[in-house]
Amino acid sequence: MSDSVDTLALPDYAPLPESALGPAVNEQGYYVGRVERNLFWVTDSVYVAAFLATPDGVVLFDAPPTLGHNLQRAIDEIAETEGTPNTVTHLVYSHHHADHAGAASLFPGATLIGHAETRRLLLRDDDPTRPAPEVTFTDGYTLEVGGERVELVFRGPNHTQDNIFIHFPDHDALMLIDIVNPGWVPIFNSNLSEDMPGYIAAAGQALEFSWTHLIAGHLGRLGTRADVELHQAYIADVVAASQAALASVDPTKYFGKYGQNAWGWVNGYLTEITTTATRPVVEKYTGVLAAADIEPLTYTTTFMLMQSLRLDKGLGSQVHP
Ligand SMILES: [Zn+2]
Repeated sequence: MSDSVDTLALPDYAPLPESALGPAVNEQGYYVGRVERNLFWVTDSVYVAAFLATPDGVVLFDAPPTLGHNLQRAIDEIAETEGTPNTVTHLVYSHHHADHAGAASLFPGATLIGHAETRRLLLRDDDPTRPAPEVTFTDGYTLEVGGERVELVFRGPNHTQDNIFIHFPDHDALMLIDIVNPGWVPIFNSNLSEDMPGYIAAAGQALEFSWTHLIAGHLGRLGTRADVELHQAYIADVVAASQAALASVDPTKYFGKYGQNAWGWVNGYLTEITTTATRPVVEKYTGVLAAADIEPLTYTTTFMLMQSLRLDKGLGSQVHP
């Protein structure tokens, strides 16, 4: 059949490490589990959201559209077993991205809470599935609902201009989206992040909070502090390999070949640096982090971090005599 012929033509990848996968989803395509006490997490194996089931109502943290109506199904399931209300009274945005927020409009009665920059970006984007938050903050905000306390903390731009740390001090948990993918390498371009120094720093900032359980937004399981440390090691290796390649790759042949075609030699030179830096990282992390062997992921992450070394840190920048 044409389907099997098409599939056979596609590349094979390394087997997923055991650490890549979480619990199986149910027939409706979701899994809901307890993080601690009345804090729950819900996943479709690619996206993760969370909610607090309080006597005064449900506080939902993110509304990924891939989970969509399964969010309310998961909430209903827990409300029934816990004997708590199933109405979402509050929805907290981790950041403005549609892939984590695009089901927000399914909860029209909820008070929307987010960073002031999230409000600005959502007003700019004007997407009816993601109404702008009416309760906003700049540095931090303590959310108290149903006797529970959640700290929303902004530490500067990282993945986006508005991505926040959501700390659950009484649930031993931290929610930080799109920085660390527990058990997996970042997706393209350092998880499609905007601010590389902020992206690198965010993992260390996460470890400054007190927690055992990490709700990281992606793939099918919760994270641990060891997952954050492994992510830091991977990023540190990408940065070190990029520094080494910036110092060792000789651009002379590209100048010689392309002359006045400036973008011709820039392409040759930067491609060689990125390829040189990517290779040892792919080799080291294949079998350790899932999808490390899918080279374009580490290649594009390396390209972003290498450009940040040049443009943010000034590495290799020379002043004309
Ligand atoms: Zn995002």
